[in-house]
Amino acid sequence: MAKKTAIITGSNSGIGLGAAHALAAAGYNVIINSFTDRREDHELAKELAAKYSTEVAYIKADMSNGAECRALVEKSVEKFGTVDVLVNNAGIQFVAPVEEFPAEKWDAIIAINLTSAFHTTAAALPHMKKAGWGRIINIASAHGLRASPFKSAYVAAKHGVIGFTKTVALEVAEKHITSNAICPGYVLTPLVEAQIPDQMKAHNMDRETVIRDVMLEKQATKEFATVDQIGATVVFLASDAAAQITGTSISVDGGWTAA
Ligand code: NAD
Repeated sequence: MAKKTAIITGSNSGIGLGAAHALAAAGYNVIINSFTDRREDHELAKELAAKYSTEVAYIKADMSNGAECRALVEKSVEKFGTVDVLVNNAGIQFVAPVEEFPAEKWDAIIAINLTSAFHTTAAALPHMKKAGWGRIINIASAHGLRASPFKSAYVAAKHGVIGFTKTVALEVAEKHITSNAICPGYVLTPLVEAQIPDQMKAHNMDRETVIRDVMLEKQATKEFATVDQIGATVVFLASDAAAQITGTSISVDGGWTAA
């Protein structure tokens, strides 16, 4: 059987990079992506390729730009011939009370965290339909199922991602293409690290108190989830064992949404 290709948006860091490791280890050709075009981005692709003896390419595309989202998919197909697995992972965060929330931050979060998945999915589906197989895996969040104060744009985008995931699942259900979301709780990545100062300010707390009482307050295990655990969930959803799992979301949140 021909080797499958996986695209992971926003994958030079954090959860996306974890998913890239997991998919490369599972033998996929992998496309990693971000909006930068630095030497280290391309070096990262080479490192992954060497580590897992598979093909890995870095393609620059800004997920806030619809045309670039679609071009990412087309360039990936030019490179490897197919797109079998699409992981919509790119995401940013901004924390502020709604009446102080800068409109340009709202627009950027909706564009990168939600609308990019529309563009990449729309571009990937014709290729998946032609191949008669495909996997759309959207990295949503526990914030796709629950709200927290000061995160209006993020919560709105992630709830939107879950609605989009379900709609796509129904549209392609008979084509052997599945569409699912993963809802991580807190995973200690650069995105989360960057939220800590804002949360300290918003809650008037020190770093340790924010981590324990704000971030992990709802995470029943009181432990961060890991990028490896999210990566393993991606590989499972991409597998044939998950062929009848579609239109749903899988929480990897230490029990957050059980309450
Ligand atoms: P991160 O900041 O480590 O990674 C974000 C990635 O997105 C980076 O590779 C970054 O370069 C990329 N990115 C940002 N803007 C982009 C743009 N305009 N175009 C292309 N790429 C862009 O963050 P992370 O924590 O790994 O987050 C990854 C995803 O997981 C996000 O969608 C986030 O909402 C989601 N998530 C994270 C957590 C968590 O606790 N870390 C929890 C739930 C969901």
